Amino acid sequence: MANKDYYSILGVNKSASEDEIKTAYRNLAKKYHPDVNKDNPDATSKFKEISEAYGVLSDKEKRSNFDKFGTAEANDFSGFSGSSAGGGFGGFEDFGGFEDIFNIFGMNSKRSAKFREVGSDLATSMSISFEEAAFGVEKEILIVRQERCSECNGSGSKPNSEYVKCPECDGKGKVQYTQNSIFGRVTNVAECQNCKGTGKVAKEKCNACRGSGVRKVSRAIKVKIPAGIDDGQVIKMRGEGEQTASKDGQTGDLHITIKVQPHALLTRNGFDLYVDVFVPFTSLLLGGKIDIPILNGVQKLDIPPLTQSNTKFTLRGKGIKYLRGVGSGDLYVTLKGEIPKNLDKNTKKLVEEINDNLSNSDYPKSENYKKKLK
Ligand SMILES: [Zn+2]
Ligand SMILES: [Zn+2]
Repeated sequence: MANKDYYSILGVNKSASEDEIKTAYRNLAKKYHPDVNKDNPDATSKFKEISEAYGVLSDKEKRSNFDKFGTAEANDFSGFSGSSAGGGFGGFEDFGGFEDIFNIFGMNSKRSAKFREVGSDLATSMSISFEEAAFGVEKEILIVRQERCSECNGSGSKPNSEYVKCPECDGKGKVQYTQNSIFGRVTNVAECQNCKGTGKVAKEKCNACRGSGVRKVSRAIKVKIPAGIDDGQVIKMRGEGEQTASKDGQTGDLHITIKVQPHALLTRNGFDLYVDVFVPFTSLLLGGKIDIPILNGVQKLDIPPLTQSNTKFTLRGKGIKYLRGVGSGDLYVTLKGEIPKNLDKNTKKLVEEINDNLSNSDYPKSENYKKKLK
């Protein structure tokens, strides 16, 4: 184990902090973990190398020894090897500090000495209309995901192939490897990944999956989008992610981010809707029926004569249906009086007449404003 450069194995420099070393290790351990590298036989040895480097560099004394002497072991604890043998990767749990690595894989190191394969989660997005979000909809989405090969049922071997002794474990079904931990050098025994502990491998690989046991397949997935969903919310479909080669593995989940297209007039905040309704200023003066956009069409709204500009009306229950629970939000209508863009001579004259017929006391708000202005 001397002559190895643990710093370059972890890709950090000699002055790296404890945190930098830990981060580098976590990233590499995740990348080269044997369980996620079924198709890459080099990954296991790389993983061991990374773990060895971390075992030294994460330990102050060993790191200092390594810096000084090029070896971690001022004292050799290699006699310590018995306790975790036979425990597979579960042996890690005895050493503390490794547990957070298990969490990366979503596994509980205390529960089981054997890893359960976990398929990856998939993420995608889906665009729906404003109304579809309001009323709910069922849609299909096309995804490409890894599925267990149907030809070989995930075994990776050609059906009815002859079996030969596994070259990785020499037919034992178990592999032994030595690892440096804070207790020194430790021998672990793990199930052989190549033959999955059976000691035998098929002579010929499955043609359909080239021996990997999995294939990329495109699938149309039915997605039930609940009424009331909002832009940016994520629908999690359990078990619609990637499968593992092994039937005992846990299938990943599918996460769909919903993108809601904007409405031409209505804006949404939570479950309430808002709309600015522009009407001729004469409608505010004279009152009458105006058209209000609602989710499933148009509704008439009666406005009284002499309605002020910016008056707000609330249409109870005309908002979006609550995602959870009964009922709906409200629709808030703000009336905006519009002044004509042009006035011909005659009309202007009429307006001037109107103006002459009105006095300051007819405009209490303007009067109040003027008073405060002084
Ligand atoms: Zn084997
Ligand atoms: Zn196959």
